[in-house]
Amino acid sequence: MLAKMMDRPLLISSLIAHAGKWHSDQEIVTKTVEGPIHRYTWSDAEKRAKKFAQALLKKGIKQGDRIGTIAWNTYRHLEAYYGISGIGAVTHTINPRLFPEQLEYVVNHADDQFLVIDTTFVGLVEALLPKAPNVKGVIVLANKANMPDVSKLRNPICYEDLIASESDEFAWPQFDDNSAAALCYTSGTTGNPKGALYAHKSTIIHALAQIAPDCMGLSSRDTVMPVVPMFHVNAWGTPYAAAATGCKLVLPGRHLDGRSIYDLLTSEKVSFTAAVPTIWMMLLAHMQEIDGNLNDLERVVIGGSACPRAMMETFQNKYGVQVLHAWGMTEMSPLGTVNTPKMKHNGLGEVERMDLQQSAGRVLYGVDMKIVDEDGNTLPNDGKATGELKVTGPWIISDYFNLAERAEAHAEDGWFSTGDVCAIDPDGYIWITDRLKDVIKSGGEWISSIDLENVAVGHPKVAEAAAIGMPHPKWDERPLLVVVKTQSGQDLDKQQMLDFLEGKIAKWWTPDDVVFVDELPHTATGKLSKLQLRERFKDYVLPTVTAG
Ligand code: AMP
Repeated sequence: MLAKMMDRPLLISSLIAHAGKWHSDQEIVTKTVEGPIHRYTWSDAEKRAKKFAQALLKKGIKQGDRIGTIAWNTYRHLEAYYGISGIGAVTHTINPRLFPEQLEYVVNHADDQFLVIDTTFVGLVEALLPKAPNVKGVIVLANKANMPDVSKLRNPICYEDLIASESDEFAWPQFDDNSAAALCYTSGTTGNPKGALYAHKSTIIHALAQIAPDCMGLSSRDTVMPVVPMFHVNAWGTPYAAAATGCKLVLPGRHLDGRSIYDLLTSEKVSFTAAVPTIWMMLLAHMQEIDGNLNDLERVVIGGSACPRAMMETFQNKYGVQVLHAWGMTEMSPLGTVNTPKMKHNGLGEVERMDLQQSAGRVLYGVDMKIVDEDGNTLPNDGKATGELKVTGPWIISDYFNLAERAEAHAEDGWFSTGDVCAIDPDGYIWITDRLKDVIKSGGEWISSIDLENVAVGHPKVAEAAAIGMPHPKWDERPLLVVVKTQSGQDLDKQQMLDFLEGKIAKWWTPDDVVFVDELPHTATGKLSKLQLRERFKDYVLPTVTAG
């Protein structure tokens, strides 16, 4: 028997329609690419998204067509998100930090019809266009006065000119909510990037899960600043979740250094923010310098890679900001787990609470997970057994976009293999030890490179650390620790580093060598690139090898 309920599609346009109607006076603040602060409201945002939507229709854009965006977090990018998806076209967010050949690959693979770009990226797109013959034109997110020299772009269009003559009255079209809404490619370090194609429905369900108290707990009383870029898994869903709540939204634009972020957090009284650990490293270093405070900030989401304990302690103990450690993936829209306590954790002492927060989070309703051994057998959720993490749920991709062959990650029906290795405890907290390809295999046992790195960065003279497995004739692999010193910690030496690790890690995990470097390689989304690091150290031989 079918229920008697209204069958209304869960479309992305309904988010901005809600915010525009019921939070019409709530502010959206942008640090513009040009420099000045821009302020307007959710109502303005919806009207302008409608204008852009109609302009795209006049350009012949149809449902399912892909439009690429190469842009920072700004109000115009937000309008593009809603304008494109609102008419059933697909917002393909492109990470400008991809290598040129990857950029070329994703634009062609997605078959982007138009590119919507910030003025910053004109040079990048000029170089790209000769290799992207299907792109019909480039929409530059600027007004006439701020248009750069676009003479070398194919069919350049000034965004403000384009939308100027459109009406802000428009009925958002209604269609099947399983239709594609957005596309984001993984910044894969091996092979070509792969596309995660999100649906309207999956995006809305994800947004609803995101605002719940056991997740990010967003509300209309928050001021939300996504520092994580809108080209990195849709800024982790915040532009959608923010519209669902009608909160004040602060968009930081192109400058993501410690000072710029600090200035916006304080001047706009941001209560909630989110980004990868690298960003917070820069913020905390700046705050140390100026003796700053974060009196308005209540919660910070840290994810994308493991959040070091020292960073968590600084945020919570020194600045009074709650850290929400989270784990997710491009393929998961991206949220999988968020670290919030359960009732039974009330009254935990500070050390135990911090221990618990080292977990990358607790499974959310909507995602189910399991760990498996090398033969695919399910392992117990006892917090001890470690295996590859598999996930399933309505906001996890069922396949990659337009790949000739089904990816290995979907070998088991109904499950997606994450490539992450972790333990799951009976409460659903996950303890990530590594990427499957990064574990250090020593004498048949696994050493967690993430745990080693986390302990190492606890040393006050260490800015960043990476542990990689190096070949060893007896043990198969042994750990090499590669360290970047802080500016004031240049006198740190190998013995001091090893002494610091002693007692904090199992003795057999002790790195066979410590090497100091000026910087570590990162991927386009700011993660340590172990692949490049291994490449850099391919001729290196551990001292324990030469010593026999
Ligand atoms: P991306 O799709 O670029 O967001 O990368 C997803 C990958 O980032 C995951 O598969 C993990 O390997 C890693 N990752 C994300 N969050 C965390 C976390 N909290 N701790 C450790 N690794 C993480």
